[in-house]
Amino acid sequence: MSDLTLELSGIAKAYNKGRENEVTVLRQIDLHVEPGEIVALVAPSGAGKSTLLHIAGLLDAPDSGSVKIAGQTVTGLSDRKRTAIRREDVGFVYQFHHLLPEFTALENIVLPQLANGVSATAAQERAKDLLTRVGVSHRADHRPAALSGGEQQRVAFCRALANSPRLLLADEPTGNLDPATSDQVFAALMELVRDTGLSAVIATHNLELAARMDRQLRLEDGTLVSL
Ligand code: ADP
Repeated sequence: MSDLTLELSGIAKAYNKGRENEVTVLRQIDLHVEPGEIVALVAPSGAGKSTLLHIAGLLDAPDSGSVKIAGQTVTGLSDRKRTAIRREDVGFVYQFHHLLPEFTALENIVLPQLANGVSATAAQERAKDLLTRVGVSHRADHRPAALSGGEQQRVAFCRALANSPRLLLADEPTGNLDPATSDQVFAALMELVRDTGLSAVIATHNLELAARMDRQLRLEDGTLVSL
């Protein structure tokens, strides 16, 4: 068993394979993420960061190469097993919050825990604790539409961490916010990730935000280059 939280080896991915409009997005991706490590993934739009994050988070399969999460090889497992690993071990944050509009902030963090077999009482306790950590506990009973953009994203971070994943994957998590809010919300995310000790791969265009992470990688021509 490896100690690494995420191990991508020789990952390649092309779309429209064998057709005239074939596009090779990932050529040779090798990425090792240690427990507790926060890695910045810097890439211009269209470089393939969503493709890479989807493969790392088991939402998409590579054409070749292997994906290991916490030492377990995931490539080749049945859909059911992959779904179970994704639900337990991986949290996602996107540029837009994707919170469920008809549920409150608290309920949005409780629901994924109930789906994972946690009791209602324990799920509410954890949701409240997470909301307190990111400074939005006073908004627990509000629906997403009644929250500011920064508050919505903070709730989305809590939801991603609801089931205590080992790995957080974030795709431009503050890309939709104005610069001052982005800065504060990003700081809250970093604190949350550091406090909980999980590993993270966070895609961003913003080199200042990238510099606050442990390691910076640029996705360039289908491979990862250290910055
Ligand atoms: P990024 O997240 O860096 O903007 P993506 O991973 O979304 O990049 O996309 C990388 C490239 O792959 C783009 O040229 C995009 O048009 C192409 N692409 C992404 N998804 C598909 C798909 N399902 N079918 C065909 N091409 C795709």
